[in-house]
Amino acid sequence: MNIILLGPPGAGKGTQARILVDHKGMVQLSTGDMLREAVAAGTEIGKQAKAVMDAGDLVTDEIVIGIISDRLDQPDVSGGAIFDGFPRTLAQADALSELLAHKGMALDAVVEMRCDDEALIERVVGRFTCAVCGEGYHSTFKTPQKEGVCDKCGSHDFKHRPDDNEDAMRNRLLVYYKETSPLIGYYHAKGALKAVDGTADIDVVTAQIAACLT
Ligand code: AMP
Repeated sequence: MNIILLGPPGAGKGTQARILVDHKGMVQLSTGDMLREAVAAGTEIGKQAKAVMDAGDLVTDEIVIGIISDRLDQPDVSGGAIFDGFPRTLAQADALSELLAHKGMALDAVVEMRCDDEALIERVVGRFTCAVCGEGYHSTFKTPQKEGVCDKCGSHDFKHRPDDNEDAMRNRLLVYYKETSPLIGYYHAKGALKAVDGTADIDVVTAQIAACLT
């Protein structure tokens, strides 16, 4: 099964994708994670993407379509892919449709995660992750049980995304409404769209997504 998690920044796409990876053996295809890896590795794409990402703008369609196309050639996607943060423009959605057709893959569902803007800003500005295992935390809603120690792996190393600040986040939301929200109509017209309440508790959202995938 191949699905898209569609929603504004902070809607919980990454959190739910990781749960699906653990429970269903699917792979998470996050263009944001792939781009952050490219930035950390100092590749040419990473150098081009860094300032754009820090400002909360979109990296070019050409770059992200190229990254996804390469990733879809790897054998692990045959167990099912979760597109997280891709597509983000109508051109990317068209390109994905062509790529999937070319590779003989189907798109089974597009799950829209609906959220309220102010809640999103609060979620994003306070979030941080374990630098070792990637477990997600929040300064108000989910602090580590022992301060400064990851609950999952015991690491003392945490990181905060440079674009998880209020200015960049407000821009990311504007970009979402301008460039990405038209995809809701696009996938609705294709009969693929389902919606869940992204403001609900993580377990509730997981159950709602599971119901969308049956
Ligand atoms: P994310 O981790 O999905 O919030 O993505 C972080 C940043 O990476 C975004 O704000 C964009 O600058 C860039 N990015 C990620 N995915 C895409 C995409 N599909 N198209 C364009 N830019 C992207």
